[in-house]
Amino acid sequence: MTENVSNLVLDGNAAAGLLQELFVPDITTAQIQCSACGSVGAVGSLRLYAAPMGAVLRCTHCDDILLRAVHTPHGRWLDMTGARSLRFS
Ligand SMILES: [Zn+2]
Repeated sequence: MTENVSNLVLDGNAAAGLLQELFVPDITTAQIQCSACGSVGAVGSLRLYAAPMGAVLRCTHCDDILLRAVHTPHGRWLDMTGARSLRFS
């Protein structure tokens, strides 16, 4: 059974409703999984290294960086390279 996948491809605007649901809740209660060690915990439990431009959040188990959030004159940036997943209840 082969489906025509091109019928399922839309642009990112089609995901607006789903993404809005994900990014509105309080992110500190979301469960984040560390890519380096696999541990899971609340975003609010991560270790914060605050800086004038933003924040770096590190895993409490292996100290790897899970999130970087920066506010620059050109916009707000979120880097989640170190996170495997983020789950909202
Ligand atoms: Zn870790």
